[in-house]
Amino acid sequence: MVCVSHRLCITSPQPQTCAGVSILWPEDHWPFAMLFPWERYHNGPDSLPFTLDISNPTMPRAQSKLCLGSSAMQDLPCDECTDVPAHIARLAEVVRDPKSRTNYRYLGLAHMQDITRSYAEQANTLKLQGLNNSRKHIKALTQLDNHHRLLMAVSENNIPRLQQIITVALRHGTSVRQIVNKLEDALEGVYRPRGYGADDLDIATLVYML
Ligand SMILES: [Zn+2]
Repeated sequence: MVCVSHRLCITSPQPQTCAGVSILWPEDHWPFAMLFPWERYHNGPDSLPFTLDISNPTMPRAQSKLCLGSSAMQDLPCDECTDVPAHIARLAEVVRDPKSRTNYRYLGLAHMQDITRSYAEQANTLKLQGLNNSRKHIKALTQLDNHHRLLMAVSENNIPRLQQIITVALRHGTSVRQIVNKLEDALEGVYRPRGYGADDLDIATLVYML
């Protein structure tokens, strides 16, 4: 209090303790603690210029790291804390509309949970694709093996009327594997020739069995 005379005294405002600012956060992005990008809440380079008070989770407050400690008027922040809402507004902007390439350091826990879930789903899809591809490969290898067996049977044995047998078999939709099996059975004598020499095959029976 400054007194100009004994009648006139001017009361100067008492400095008030700066309590920082209350945080304005997008209404559809609560709880605040789950959406705030805590990764940048530290004291190193690229850190946020304020500290948070979330002791009341529904009314979080922020205070500049350079807070002057007092303000000219009650309920008003100091000059340093006055800049804090602009920083928070920029963070809220990213939270409202995170881009697919947004660095995870600018995202909150809830967004990181979503990203983790999406990666897990992608991993499962790739696993399934891998499984399907393995099945296709095994099938292709089996087919290759059947073709190889057919080639071997043809090249190593003198099978009478071979072309006729295969033509008929293919016409009946017989698979290569079945053809090979029957040819091998025939060569091993499972099908007995009827009225022909031991080396001659009963073509009619063979074709019928195919
Ligand atoms: Zn302050």
